[in-house]
Amino acid sequence: MIHWEAREAAKRVLERCDLLGALSESPDSLCRTFLSPPMREVHKLLLEWMREAGLTAHLDAVGNVRGRLEGIRSSTLVVGSHVDTVPDAGKYDGVLGVLLGIEIARVASQTRPHHSLEIIAFSEEEGVRFGFPFIGSSAVSGSFDPAWLTKVDAAGITLEKSLVQFGLDPLEIPGACIPSSKLLSYFEIHIEQGPVLESLDAPLGVVTGLVGQSRHTLEFSGRAAHAGTTPMNLRRDPLPAAAEFVLEVERLAQNTEGLTATVGRLETVPGAGNVIAGIVKLSLDVRHASDVVRLLSVSKLLESSRHIADTRGLKCSIIGNLEQNAVPCDLAQSSRLVGAVLHGGLTVHRLPSGAGHDAMTFAPLCPVTMLFIRSPGGISHNPLESVLESDVENALEVGATFVCDILEDASA
Ligand SMILES: [Zn+2]
Repeated sequence: MIHWEAREAAKRVLERCDLLGALSESPDSLCRTFLSPPMREVHKLLLEWMREAGLTAHLDAVGNVRGRLEGIRSSTLVVGSHVDTVPDAGKYDGVLGVLLGIEIARVASQTRPHHSLEIIAFSEEEGVRFGFPFIGSSAVSGSFDPAWLTKVDAAGITLEKSLVQFGLDPLEIPGACIPSSKLLSYFEIHIEQGPVLESLDAPLGVVTGLVGQSRHTLEFSGRAAHAGTTPMNLRRDPLPAAAEFVLEVERLAQNTEGLTATVGRLETVPGAGNVIAGIVKLSLDVRHASDVVRLLSVSKLLESSRHIADTRGLKCSIIGNLEQNAVPCDLAQSSRLVGAVLHGGLTVHRLPSGAGHDAMTFAPLCPVTMLFIRSPGGISHNPLESVLESDVENALEVGATFVCDILEDASA
C-alpha cells in the first residue's frame, strides 16, 4: 500500500467517526443503543460507504450492516466491530474498527482474493438496551438464543418487538449466521480503552487474549445502631470489615502479576451519617488472562471476606454474578499479525484485553486476532475518548497487510 493512500484513508476514517459520532439519541452527548432511531442514518451511511469501497452490502435480521467481497472460495475472513455505544460515549469505541475495516476492504477489493472477506458493523455489543451484550455478533456466529427475544428493555419493549418495530424479521435471524465450516478467521481492530500502549509510547498492540472475569456481590451484616450512644466495644459495624476487605483486594491484585481486582460499588444500609451501618454490600470484579490465576485469586478473596467477618462477629454472604473464562487469541494468526506490524516498521507490543469484545463470540469457532490502537490518556466510554491520526494510519497499513495476507493464503 502506498503511504499517501493510507494517509488519505486515515483522514476519511476520522471524518466518518465525526459524522457517526453526531448521530445520537440524546441532544448533547453521544448515546446510540441497539436499534435506536439514529441507527437508521448509521445504517444508510455504512451501506453507502461499503458499496463505494467495492463491497456488496446489506442489513441483516438483527441490524448488523454487512459488506462482502466474494473471493474464489466461500471461506470467509470476518473483520468486525460494533456501532452501538454506552451513554455519554466517545466516538471511536467500536465505530473506528468498522470504518478501518471498510478502508481495508477497499484495498482488498482491488483484486479478487482467494478467500472471501466480510466487513461487519455489529448492531449491539455494549449490552446497554437489553442488559446483556453481543446480540449482533451472536447472530453471525450462530450463538443467538431465541429465548433472548422475550427480554425487555427499560421501556418494557421485548427484543422481538424492537426488531419488528425497526422493520426487521426475527424469524430471519438464523439466516444471519455464517456456518462455522465457512468461517476462516475473525479479526477486530479496536481502541485499547486503557493506558498501557500510551505508557509504552506505542501506537499499536497485538492482543494476546481477552481476560476472564469473575463478578460477585458480597454483603457484610452486623447491627445498625445509634452513632452517639453505642460505645465502640459494643458495636457490630460491618463497614470497617468492608474497608479491611477492600484493602485486601488491592493488596492481592498488587502482588499478583496481571491481576486486576476492583470493588467499584459500596453501599451502606441505612446509609446515614449518625447511624452505624447494619449492612454493607459491595461488588467484586476480578480479571486475569489465566483462568487458574483468576479462580485461585477469587477463592483467596472470598475466604478472606469470611475470615474478616468471623473475626469481627459479623455475617458475610456471597452471591456469584458472572464467571466468564479467558479467550486466548490464535497463536498462528497473532504471529501473522506481528509480521504485519514489523512490516509496517513498528515495534511489537503484546497485551491482553481487559475488556470484552465481539471477538469472544467467534473464538469457539475460528481463529480470532485483535489489534489495539493506543488510547490517549487511556480514556474510553467518555466524550474525551480520542485517537491520533498517525496511529490510525499505522493501523490501516498493518490491518491491510494482515488481511490481504490471510485472503491470499491458498494453504488455509
Ligand atoms: Zn467496543
